[in-house]
Amino acid sequence: LALRTALEMESEQRAVEGAMVAALDAARAAVRAGVPDVRMISLESFDEMPVMRTTQGREEFEEARKEGIVFHTQRGARRFLGDGGRVRAVELIGVKRTYDEQGRFHPIYDESIHEVMDTDTVILAIGQQADLSFLKPEDGVEITPQGTIKVDPETLATTAPGVFAGGDVAFGPRNLIQAVANGKRAALSIDDYLRGVTERPVVHLSVEKIPTRRYVMPEGYEKRRRQPPPTISLDRRTGISEVEVGYDEVEARQQAERCLACHIQTIYDPDKCVLCNRCVDVCPEYCLKLVPLDDLDVDPEIKEAIIAARGLSLDQPLSAMIKDDEKCIRCGLCAIRCPTDAMTMEVFYYEEREALAGGDARALPV
Ligand SMILES: Cc1cc2nc3c(=O)[nH]c(=O)nc-3n(C[C@H](O)[C@H](O)[C@H](O)COP(=O)(O)OP(=O)(O)OC[C@H]3O[C@@H](n4cnc5c(N)ncnc54)[C@H](O)[C@@H]3O)c2cc1C
Ligand code: SF4
Ligand code: SF4
Repeated sequence: LALRTALEMESEQRAVEGAMVAALDAARAAVRAGVPDVRMISLESFDEMPVMRTTQGREEFEEARKEGIVFHTQRGARRFLGDGGRVRAVELIGVKRTYDEQGRFHPIYDESIHEVMDTDTVILAIGQQADLSFLKPEDGVEITPQGTIKVDPETLATTAPGVFAGGDVAFGPRNLIQAVANGKRAALSIDDYLRGVTERPVVHLSVEKIPTRRYVMPEGYEKRRRQPPPTISLDRRTGISEVEVGYDEVEARQQAERCLACHIQTIYDPDKCVLCNRCVDVCPEYCLKLVPLDDLDVDPEIKEAIIAARGLSLDQPLSAMIKDDEKCIRCGLCAIRCPTDAMTMEVFYYEEREALAGGDARALPV
C-alpha cells in the first residue's frame, strides 16, 4: 500500500513514519517518484531500528541515505495537522527510549521536545492489518484476537470447512518466502480436502553418510565476506527501475559458496571413539570438547539412563563429547582428522509423504 501510494501521488514533501524495511521501501519509492524532500520519522534511535539488525537492512539504510532521505530518529507523531482535507504538517514529540530492558516495545516519550514538521503527504509504515470486514459470522471463518484468520498451522484449514488461508492474513506480517510456502501447503491441503484424504503427511527423514575422503568445502568459503549486490547509479534510480541489479555469474557463485550447508552435520559415534582428542584440537571454531562425564550438569536420572543404554556403569571413568552445532562451519576437519571414523559428516534430507493405506507412503510434490 505504501509503495502504491508513493508512486501514484504527486507531492513535494513527504514524511514516512516507521523504521522497518517496508518504511525504507516506501521512502525510497517516494524519491524515485520524484518527491524532492523525503523524511523518515522513527521512534527508535539508529541503534534500535529493526532495519539495522541485519546486514541487508544496513545496506538498504545506507542506500536510502545516499538517495537523500533525511532521518528523524527518536521522534513520535503526536498528531497530523491539516486543512481542507489535506495534511499540512506532523506534530512530533521526543522519545527517550522505545524498548524496555526486556526488549519489549514500550516507548517512553519526552514531551519537552516538541517540533512541527511541514509536509503535504504522510505514509504510515507502522504495520498494516488485513481488512476482514467482508467476512460475516455466517461464513464460519473465525478471526483471532490479533485480527488474523484462525488456521490450523499444519493444514492451513480455517474454521470453515473447505476454506484455507495462509500468508500475512493468517500469520501477520512476515515475508515472501513464508507466504509462498503457505501457498504450496494450502494447495496440498485443498487437494487432500477435495479427495477426502484425512491422513496427515508422513515425515520422512533420511540420512546419508558422506565418505570422508569425498567431503570438501570450497576453498576460503569461511573467510569470504558478503558482497552487497551491485546497484545502478543514483541518477538512474527513477520510477520503477530496478536498483539492485544482481550479481554476475562469478560473484553469484562465490556468494553461494558462503553457504554453511547446515543440512550437513557432524555425527559422533562413541563406540568408535578412542578419545584421542584430535577432532577437538583441529576444530577452528572450538565447537567440540571432550569432558569427564561427571562435569556434565545433566539430570542424574537422564545420565543413568544414558549409561544403562550403552551397557556401561558409573564405576568406570566415562567421558562425553560436547558439540556446538550452532558454531560449526561444516569444514569437515574433525572427520578428516579422526583416525577411527568416529566423527563423520552426514547429510539430512527431509521429505513429506502422503500416508497410504497399508502403511505405505507416496512422495508429495515439492
Ligand atoms: C513495503 C513492503 C516491503 C516488503 N519487502 C519485503 C521484502 O523485501 N522481502 C520479503 O520477503 N517480504 C517483504 N515484505 C513482506 C511481503 O510482501 C509479505 O509478507 C507478502 O507479500 C505476503 O504475501 P500474501 O500473499 O500473504 O499477501 P499479499 O502479498 O499482501 O497479497 C494479498 C492479496 O490479496 C488481495 N486482497 C486483499 N483483500 C482482498 C479481498 N477482499 N478480495 C480479494 N483480494 C483481496 C490484495 O490486493 C493482495 O493482492 C514487504 C512488505 C511491504 C508492505
Ligand atoms: S566440521 Fe569443522 S567446525 Fe564443525 S565441528 Fe568439525 S572441525 Fe569443528
Ligand atoms: S578424533 Fe575421532 S577418535 Fe579422536 S576423539 Fe575425536 S571422534 Fe574420538
